Amino acid sequence: MERELFIDSAERHILHTYNRNHIVLDRGEGVYLYDTDDCKYLDFAAGIAVQALGYGNKEYNDALKHQVDKLLHTSNLYYNFPIIQAARKLCAASEMDRVFFTNSGAEAIEGALKTAKKYAYEKDGCTDHEIIAMEHSFHGRTLGALSVTGNAHYREPFEPLPGIVKFAEFNNLDSVKALVNGKTCAIIMETVQGEGGIYPAEKGFLAGVKKICEENDILLILDEIQCGMGRTGNMFAWQSYGIMPDIMTCAKALGCGVPVGAFAMTQKVADHSLKPGDHGTTYGGNPFVGAAVSKVFDIFEEKNLVEHVKEISAYLEEKLDELVEEYPFVTARRGMGLMQGLELTIPVGDVSASALEHGLIIITAGSNVLRFVPPLVIEKEHVDEMVEKLKKAFYDCK
Ligand SMILES: *Cc1c(COP(=O)(O)O)cnc(C)c1O
Repeated sequence: MERELFIDSAERHILHTYNRNHIVLDRGEGVYLYDTDDCKYLDFAAGIAVQALGYGNKEYNDALKHQVDKLLHTSNLYYNFPIIQAARKLCAASEMDRVFFTNSGAEAIEGALKTAKKYAYEKDGCTDHEIIAMEHSFHGRTLGALSVTGNAHYREPFEPLPGIVKFAEFNNLDSVKALVNGKTCAIIMETVQGEGGIYPAEKGFLAGVKKICEENDILLILDEIQCGMGRTGNMFAWQSYGIMPDIMTCAKALGCGVPVGAFAMTQKVADHSLKPGDHGTTYGGNPFVGAAVSKVFDIFEEKNLVEHVKEISAYLEEKLDELVEEYPFVTARRGMGLMQGLELTIPVGDVSASALEHGLIIITAGSNVLRFVPPLVIEKEHVDEMVEKLKKAFYDCK
């Protein structure tokens, strides 16, 4: 079979850093993916919360094709119009004042950390500032992003990691307070923890952290790379808490498939942090990704996608709650909007593998959580189809 040949070739040449599922994905249509054997899969992973618009959105594809023919890349030594539009739309949607475009989420985190360090350095000229991050967090795989990622397994082989980083317990305000001192320059967290197991920040916790930050001129960095871009039923998850960060990171669904991230900040932070020469990127914010990001914001508005997420996620929550009722090994549901997790007492990896055989793509989070991050354009019928397929997987695995 062709598939086996493809996979053999992959395993000979591609560095083995992922244990991949044994399918070769070939094309997408709506909320479905097809592999090279023409098997059809309902996609409840969206390329890890990237493909908010699903696959084959004509307006988006046409915008990209148009930009390919016009201009792909110019460097940041000149202005380009698509990224100017993208920046304006991202600032409007995020209530931030200044944005820097990157090529990935991890790079957005790097930029956010550099901004916070520079802000503190401008104040006192010292370089020994500390950052508080959260246990079970995930911020990416580069050395800087790893330094604030609260997962010992990911970090250990690569230590020492840069900077002085202390880890507090997520949703435990006292554990944060215990770490704050005169050297603390930033507190970084995901508004809704993704990889760690789909844990939304509690309102009191986020409000408490914000208060600590305001009182001590510490910068609050909210990582919205997974939970942002409409996924939780607001454009950015922090908007549902009414608590604004000083710096925000974004990536994943920002480009809906084109590799692009961003870190954005308030004017006050911009005025006292990165200056010409302090940060840069060759590709970041080129006309191609600019066209993608700009069109993504247009489509979000035209389709009123954030409202759609509110409606459809209520239905998804209802259906997932029914699974908690029905199956003794499904012990809890957590999440916001179309970022949901089911906690299982049976191995989640087995369920995910079995679901694939029944034509459902679904991923895991943490050690025991099934993660639901579908395209934002799903409809009720897709939720029903997902539940039907998931039940078959449960039947195989119980
Ligand atoms: C995926 C993710 C990242 C890293 O993004 P990459 O594009 O993989 O570098 C950082 N933070 C969160 C919350 C993520 O989900």
